[in-house]
Amino acid sequence: MQQRNAQPTKVNEAPVTAEEPVVSTHQTARLAQEPAGDFRIVIVGGGAGGLELATKLGERLGRRGLARIILVDANPTHLWKPLLHEVAAGTLNSYQDELGYLGHAKHHGYRFQFGRMEGLDRARRQIILAAMTDDKGEEVVGRRRLDYDLLVLAVGSISNDFGTPGVREHARFLDSRLEAEILHRDLLILLAGRVDGATPDAGPDQDSQTAPGGIPSIGVAIVGGGATGVELAAELHQAMEDLSRYAAPVKAGTLQITVLEAADRILSPLPERLAFNVSEALRHLNIAVLTKAKVASMDAESVHLADGRTIPAKIKVWAAGIKAPAFLREIDGLESHRNGQLLVRSTLQTTRDDAIFAFGDCAWCPQSPGSDLPVPARAQAAHQEAELLAKSLVRHVEALHACRQPPPLPTYSYSDFGSLISLSRYTAAGTLMGGVFRKSYLIEGWFARLAYISLYRMHQMALHGIWRTLILILTNRLQRMTQPSLKMH
Ligand SMILES: Cc1cc2nc3c(=O)[nH]c(=O)nc-3n(C[C@H](O)[C@H](O)[C@H](O)COP(=O)(O)OP(=O)(O)OC[C@H]3O[C@@H](n4cnc5c(N)ncnc54)[C@H](O)[C@@H]3O)c2cc1C
Repeated sequence: MQQRNAQPTKVNEAPVTAEEPVVSTHQTARLAQEPAGDFRIVIVGGGAGGLELATKLGERLGRRGLARIILVDANPTHLWKPLLHEVAAGTLNSYQDELGYLGHAKHHGYRFQFGRMEGLDRARRQIILAAMTDDKGEEVVGRRRLDYDLLVLAVGSISNDFGTPGVREHARFLDSRLEAEILHRDLLILLAGRVDGATPDAGPDQDSQTAPGGIPSIGVAIVGGGATGVELAAELHQAMEDLSRYAAPVKAGTLQITVLEAADRILSPLPERLAFNVSEALRHLNIAVLTKAKVASMDAESVHLADGRTIPAKIKVWAAGIKAPAFLREIDGLESHRNGQLLVRSTLQTTRDDAIFAFGDCAWCPQSPGSDLPVPARAQAAHQEAELLAKSLVRHVEALHACRQPPPLPTYSYSDFGSLISLSRYTAAGTLMGGVFRKSYLIEGWFARLAYISLYRMHQMALHGIWRTLILILTNRLQRMTQPSLKMH
């Protein structure tokens, strides 16, 4: 995956020492007064990082009655975010790969609270959850407060449109499963107007040219030539190829896909040769790649570039940059980066509150203690941080229970294990870092595809363990044998 925000910012790295404990008098007092299991660690955000952390802490602390682990998420189910482009294309049925938090919590020793965090009260050590409404907008559950002794924020990121005119109104984003499903529905609706000889009722169809199969094509513009944009383009092409088997005369070329990148090449974090090979593979699929193409604005029918060119596109997807969710910015006095990410030290503690941790996409963390570069917003990094935080917090709570001074928190250094780009079932490419000298190896083809798939399998193993993951893989295979390769509803 691409490195999404490489803006250097210096974090005040206050060293954590045994003389400067993380534990506050508040925490020791709470443990003295309350039953052991009432020490509350609240994790907000059950995504790539937060769910792995809740699972580990639930197993190591929750099950032993040493702490109450509470996971809060705005959705009742989890779907690994790197799968969202497949959900949008319909090549993955999200219902088959989702995980229900309540059931998972029961089996792994943590508790689940369904709700969206919208505020923080550091003085009272409480988070504030928004009121919940039904589909008519009527309030069903009022605003709630939830106590914590330690708080971990892992709420991920949202797309950053940099205020580009028309983007909020006319583009789709891949920020959540719901948005991916809406994009999928848009596509199905537009395609419905093209099958079985259907033509527009009045006037020329502005965006359409005639595709080689004789039906009007649909312009799709994907803004952002990073991994998300490139993978989505290939996945959409694959989806059309699959759909052509069910809904003639739809053809792979029915979608006229253009990837727009402001820089002079796509996939900037990857070696140039690899990015070139990926561009060639896309061109081979008739996917246009426009570089030095800075988007100036959008309207319902087109994308307008800063150099005056116009790209007709009925469907527009914005996949160029991220920022932290708006509610997080300087929340109750915590320090934020200019893109809204919370500034954290290498211990993953926020710079102004030792009892609040943040990690994953929502945190600006130095790549190693003292570094000016941030950890990239990648599932790989969220996973590494979750592992470190699980170790830190288990040691911390165990020490509290043994009435010992908790040991200093370990610091995090980012290890880059490489980047992989999947061009759907066609091919994959990327780099793997390994060996004693951490050399980078270029990989392509089926081996790269295998490595790409294994990333998700590793996430599943962290959540379910090896045996359940093997059963899930088998179930998945069986489902694929009995169902169409494309979700068409
Ligand atoms: C299409 C796509 C493809 C990608 N491919 C790759 C890849 O191949 N490799 C890679 O390393 N990375 C990839 N990424 C990036 C990767 O998905 C993120 O870096 C990673 O998911 C970040 O993990 P996280 O735990 O910080 O946040 P997320 O996984 O985004 O989880 C955030 C969680 O917080 C919850 N939440 C948000 N706001 C609130 C709130 N206010 N209250 C309660 N809950 C809340 C959300 O519901 C969600 O469950 C991809 C991203 C996209 C969009």
